[in-house]
Amino acid sequence: MSKDHPDGYLKNEREPIHKRDPDERKGDFEEIWEQKWDEDHLKSQGERCMSCGTPACMSGCPIGNIIPDWNDLVYRGDWKRALERLHATNNFPEFTGYNCPAPCENTCTLKYNDDPVTIKSIERAIVDRGWEEGWIEPDPPQQRTDEEVAIVGSGPAGLAAAQQLNRAGHHVTVYERDENPGGLMRYGIPDAKFSKAKVERRIDQLRQEGITFECGVEVGEDIPVETLETEYDAACIAVGSQKPIELPIEGRELDGIHRAMEYLPRANPGQSDGMAVPEAMDADGKSVVVLGGGDTGADCVGTAHRQGAEQVVQIELLPKPPEERPDGNQWPDQPQTYEKSYSQEEGGVEEYCVDTQAFRDTDGDGAVDTLVADRVEWDEGEDGDWEKTVVEEDIHVDADMVLLAVGFTGPESTPFDPLDIEMTENGTFATDDSHMTSVDGVFAAGDANSGPSLIVWAIGDGRDVARHIDEYLTGETDLPPSLETPNELVVSRQ
Ligand SMILES: Cc1cc2nc3c(=O)[nH]c(=O)nc-3n(C[C@H](O)[C@H](O)[C@H](O)COP(=O)(O)OP(=O)(O)OC[C@H]3O[C@@H](n4cnc5c(N)ncnc54)[C@H](O)[C@@H]3O)c2cc1C
Repeated sequence: MSKDHPDGYLKNEREPIHKRDPDERKGDFEEIWEQKWDEDHLKSQGERCMSCGTPACMSGCPIGNIIPDWNDLVYRGDWKRALERLHATNNFPEFTGYNCPAPCENTCTLKYNDDPVTIKSIERAIVDRGWEEGWIEPDPPQQRTDEEVAIVGSGPAGLAAAQQLNRAGHHVTVYERDENPGGLMRYGIPDAKFSKAKVERRIDQLRQEGITFECGVEVGEDIPVETLETEYDAACIAVGSQKPIELPIEGRELDGIHRAMEYLPRANPGQSDGMAVPEAMDADGKSVVVLGGGDTGADCVGTAHRQGAEQVVQIELLPKPPEERPDGNQWPDQPQTYEKSYSQEEGGVEEYCVDTQAFRDTDGDGAVDTLVADRVEWDEGEDGDWEKTVVEEDIHVDADMVLLAVGFTGPESTPFDPLDIEMTENGTFATDDSHMTSVDGVFAAGDANSGPSLIVWAIGDGRDVARHIDEYLTGETDLPPSLETPNELVVSRQ
């Protein structure tokens, strides 16, 4: 596609779609993003893409989105074709347009010495427009095969695999143990980041395309796991990686200490399926401590503020990342720099280099009220390993409620044991290059395969596994290939 706006970045400054004012937005559970955007604004942002010839942005995108093309089409006002280009590589562009950390923007060539193109905002605007205009419609297959495929898990990996396989004409059944489909898109990511109505309209589309959803069914519990082999021609395990890392320290058993994934789905109205928030998980008026400085921790901070927490302290064991790129971390590598989370923009205290030692119940009512910690320093040892030294002991922090967001290890339980599938040493499902596990016809994708990762990777995996399953079932496939992992520019999965 030829471009006639190579100097757009000189005329227009970078301006992403804005977030709402922090003070206003933390008073409700609505999305943090401005809902309205202006067409001319987005056109001017598309114009900033300089058609650099080597679209490093595409290498930064794990699913190889054809970014320069849709930037250009938006600049020209051809939103419908932009949507087609977007859907060519991504089944659910709103999942990423609202939630992706946008590694593509970090590899955008402009970022070498200028502000990158607002790729994420443009993606979001295209797909918002597609829904508004009614351009996104069910697209059922013209012909059906006789093949039956089971997908276990309805997160972005399972949903992408289901849609691709259904489009290849196979009969697809998605099993989901939760009451509603969506995986972490529905029961993890808070309402403030992504409205659940946006998940539901996609599920609606998939149902209308002919995909069957069996919700409230845990494979291995409610139906025997052998069903995957006896009733189906192929199966895909896409059960995510939600087994939490534990913190086995003094006082862990006290009331008022919750894992992030116990808390978030109960505390966010859009996720709680109409259930009232249990008192123990209502942060209203409480001093809340969130352990873990990552995205899940940030989501706990944001949710606690929305519930009316008195104060929220987010504690991280590691040092605060630097404001500027450290030596050896240059474009187009992903920057290892500090970025304030949306929830920290809204308030709260960030503490780094704090090593939690114990939870205490000083008034003897059975519930936590104090967190005890050491302040530490990190130094690189002679062997290159980082070592911590305690510089201050016995720090006390008020904590009426503690939220543990210290990470996930792998898939939670092992209801798949009867199939005797080989696992990796990290506890994820081992697969070959075609995503097939050690059991013939049983595939794995998404976080269940890779370990905790990102939505964009899950969608890419879902598309990939669908192609391999289609080939396994029919000996060939017309489903589009995913991007061959292009080079080391692609953002790390972990
Ligand atoms: C709080 C939080 C916030 C996040 N925020 C972001 C973000 O902003 N951006 C981003 O890119 N990524 C984010 N992530 C990561 C992202 O959500 C995951 O990488 C992604 O959802 C993985 O998709 P998946 O399909 O592999 O698994 P999941 O989304 O975990 O879905 C797996 C599904 O399988 C179901 N299941 C499990 N076992 C069974 C069984 N035996 N039978 C039937 N069903 C079963 C589960 O109930 C679940 O619905 C976040 C993660 C968390 C926890």
